[in-house]
Amino acid sequence: MELNTAIITGASSGIGAATAKELAKKNIKVMLAARRDERLKELKQEIEDMGGTAEYKATDVTSAEEMEALAKETNDTFGSVDILVNNAGLMPLSFMNKRKLDEWNKMVDVNIKGVLHGIYAVLPYMEEKNKGHIINTSSVAAHKIMPGSAVYSGTKMAVHGISEGLRGELANTNIRTTIISPGMVATELTETITDEDILNAFKNNSNDMQPLQSQDIAEAVGYAIDQPVHVDVNEVVVRPSNQS
Ligand code: NDP
Repeated sequence: MELNTAIITGASSGIGAATAKELAKKNIKVMLAARRDERLKELKQEIEDMGGTAEYKATDVTSAEEMEALAKETNDTFGSVDILVNNAGLMPLSFMNKRKLDEWNKMVDVNIKGVLHGIYAVLPYMEEKNKGHIINTSSVAAHKIMPGSAVYSGTKMAVHGISEGLRGELANTNIRTTIISPGMVATELTETITDEDILNAFKNNSNDMQPLQSQDIAEAVGYAIDQPVHVDVNEVVVRPSNQS
């Protein structure tokens, strides 16, 4: 099954940017999506300098309309929507008694609704051609719930439920579903944390673990995509070797 095009959300930094470059190296035409379009413009240039094909569109995943417009533009520009990497996410960890309601709601909006909006937007294109691959970024936080990760873990457990349900519904089609569950990766993700107690805990533990790099996760995404059509990699869990 030839998969030639991909939408990558959260492509303006970290895992999404590395995944976009990894897929472009495989001759997949990539549509880069995030809110910071200056960064997407730079990444498009970088991919083109490598010999790849990329376009970008400023998109907020919390808007179903913007996600629909993104899918339409991808189809109009590249002729198909073969792969969706539903990667955009936020992780403002906090203890629940800090009552950071706004941050809880943002995580629900981006980490859960954003993933749903992506599925909503791409499914008609994939079903029409009976081919595709939807890759949802979850986390080891869906497997191991720590104090301070309750809401974040809850959103990633929702990603697991949605992905598994979708996989079962699509089992008789050529549309595959994969969950990517990274452990700690060195990215900008922790910059959204405002809870001082969590930040101090991070500082105190920062020497204990050698985090993964975004490229390590990009290669896991590439592995799932590269499998023959009869193989659906349901989930890839990748931790740093010294993460417990
Ligand atoms: P980054 O902070 O580097 O990337 C997050 C991306 O999400 C950015 O490109 C950001 O772009 C985008 N984003 C956030 N909100 C929105 C929005 N409303 N609409 C569109 N895009 C949005 O972190 P990572 O690369 O680490 O995170 C990528 C994914 O990996 C997330 O789902 C995260 O939960 C998951 N993950 C990360 C781990 C880690 O240790 N780093 C571990 C486990 C999972 P912009 O701000 O430009 O919109």
